[in-house]
Amino acid sequence: MTQPTFATLVSRWYEENARDLPWREPGVGAWAILVSEVMLQQTPVVRVLPAWRAWLDRWPDPAALAADTPAEAIRMWGRLGYPRRAVRLRDCAVAIVERHGGAVPDKLDQLLALPGVGTYTARAVAAFAYGQRHPVVDTNVRRVVSRAVAGKPDAGPATRPADLVACEELLPLEPAAAALASAAFMELGAVVCTARSPRCPACPVESVCAWRASGQQAPAGPTRRPQRYAGTDRQVRGLLLGVLREATGPVPHQRLDQVWSDDVQRARALAGLVTDGLVEPVGEAAFRLAGDGPATPLPLP
Ligand code: SF4
Repeated sequence: MTQPTFATLVSRWYEENARDLPWREPGVGAWAILVSEVMLQQTPVVRVLPAWRAWLDRWPDPAALAADTPAEAIRMWGRLGYPRRAVRLRDCAVAIVERHGGAVPDKLDQLLALPGVGTYTARAVAAFAYGQRHPVVDTNVRRVVSRAVAGKPDAGPATRPADLVACEELLPLEPAAAALASAAFMELGAVVCTARSPRCPACPVESVCAWRASGQQAPAGPTRRPQRYAGTDRQVRGLLLGVLREATGPVPHQRLDQVWSDDVQRARALAGLVTDGLVEPVGEAAFRLAGDGPATPLPLP
């Protein structure tokens, strides 16, 4: 198997079969792509679509979000889950305004320096918004590379530098073609080479896939138990945040006490929300979303 052939096969397949997603449309800016990448990290596409549109309707650029409060970001995040992402995204918007005049930077080191932007997100923005050649490695890509190149059914524990090198070796040299291939690898892992049920007969690299060539027929994806939610601190945090999101001012402790009967667990969940910067105490006996109230104007960069 020659490496350019692998990228070419997947890219051709992608051009004909990619899902029609709004953040992939021509002309979508770096901010919209950054927002999509943050939302998609732990949330399925179908839930992200309406949230992404609503978010960008309200905050079409980093300056708009930076001028609003963390509380409003948490409110808009709604029930997407893992709401710390909302606060981090606003922190990121503030940093973009303060450090880059409101434009999402196009240099990898500057992207990596933004709050809440990690190895994956920085490279995804550099590749998908700016057409640069960077390995964009998420769980799906690691699985595709592991199977097709290494002949292993699963990627095993993440080894970031090794994963980046393995993926980069597959990318075409030309930046735009590399960015297309990165998107294609991700899509292949998301819809064809899935963890539990790879659809090898429909795969564009079936003829060159090492795992397929090894003769293993049955899917060997990881058996992951569904995460329990009912009764967990996550559920209690969600209930507390739900009350605070709906409120227009500080919420008395007694009102929050009503959402969950276990005092210890409720107190732990509330303390966690405060530690995570999502909620703040108001006086001795009330709480509100972080920074709730009139927004403070940012100083001009
Ligand atoms: S042939 Fe099967 S295992 Fe190989 S990359 Fe395609 S879907 Fe994955």
